[in-house]
Amino acid sequence: MKAAVVRAFGEPLVIEERPDPEPGPGQVRVAVEASGLCHTDIHAAHGDWPVKPRPPFVPGHEGVGLVEKLGDGVTHLAVGQRVAVPWLGWACGRCEHCLTGWETLCEQQVNTGYGCDGGYAEKMLAWADFAQPVPEGITAVDAAPLTCAGVTTYKALKVAGVRPAQLVAVSGIGGLGHLAVQYAKIAGAQVAAIDVTDDKLELAAELGADIVIDARKDDVGTALKQHGGAHAAIALAVDTASFEAVNSGLRRGGRLVMVALPAHGTVRVPVFDTVLNGTSVIGSIVGTRQDLAEVFRLHAAGLTRVIHETRPLTAVNDCIGEVLRGEVRARIVFDLGAGR
Ligand code: NAD
Ligand code: ZN
Ligand code: ZN
Repeated sequence: MKAAVVRAFGEPLVIEERPDPEPGPGQVRVAVEASGLCHTDIHAAHGDWPVKPRPPFVPGHEGVGLVEKLGDGVTHLAVGQRVAVPWLGWACGRCEHCLTGWETLCEQQVNTGYGCDGGYAEKMLAWADFAQPVPEGITAVDAAPLTCAGVTTYKALKVAGVRPAQLVAVSGIGGLGHLAVQYAKIAGAQVAAIDVTDDKLELAAELGADIVIDARKDDVGTALKQHGGAHAAIALAVDTASFEAVNSGLRRGGRLVMVALPAHGTVRVPVFDTVLNGTSVIGSIVGTRQDLAEVFRLHAAGLTRVIHETRPLTAVNDCIGEVLRGEVRARIVFDLGAGR
């Protein structure tokens, strides 16, 4: 099977021929149909974060495909079933976080495409308990971006506690942002979309954004305050200054939810304004299996649109360049060919 491998941080990925991986107890082998390119995979390949993966590794945590082989003890999945393999590859199920519905905070978790090989491959392994069945009627290319971009932004809006008629600022209309706009609309919010390219701002309007703010021209804080300030701001742009900009546009009591993970990201939060205005800064990491099941249910009900461009895995290095230059409409999905 073919896999795209990070051999060293910052170097182009290498397409390698590897033997099909053998599922261990509790695991399944998945023949990958589609695999999304999340900006996190670029951070992984560049070694951007304090906790680093260990090359050689296969990135990718939006892999969707068909179960091909069951490891010992797997009884709830069937060969031929479509599953998604998210960032949360495994969690212990026993710790305080796992037992209180916060498995995404489990300290023993294993992350797909980071702590173990991921979805940039024709075949991948998944722990059966964390491989999410994809409901009938959802294509693999739609399911892929939902598996991280979808679940992450859906969860961020839950964490923000968004209610109908509130103003939600979505900063960064990329893979994550194009879905965040839609979840905020589903929650009944008014949405202000912020980006730095015309295409992304147009896409946001097409997907239901009520207000668009061009961060190249407008002061984001002032623009949001003209609408009374945001009840919640979801920071999805890979740029630390954008966090500060959107934080300055919160209304009193508003919440900034940090989601993007720029390299060496450190944000200045003014103490006086935060205290006097009673605002909050919250971090949000992906979502649980239940959150992903809800994301799939919304999509199966026809409530979300996934914007994707499909590419062959061999184009991976060009695709990374396109994402970094902001040229991708929303999400690139690699077509791995299984299932046809
Ligand atoms: P992306 O590259 O598809 O989207 C980023 C968007 O931000 C682009 O549309 C870009 O034009 C826009 N942008 C750039 N500078 C901006 C600025 N100053 N103001 C407003 N917009 C600006 O990336 P993505 O895949 O959507 O991921 C975004 C970030 O979220 C990455 O850092 C990724 O690692 C992180 N992430 C976090 C989680 C989590 O669980 N917390 C999950 C997935 C991804
Ligand atoms: Zn991701
Ligand atoms: Zn745990």
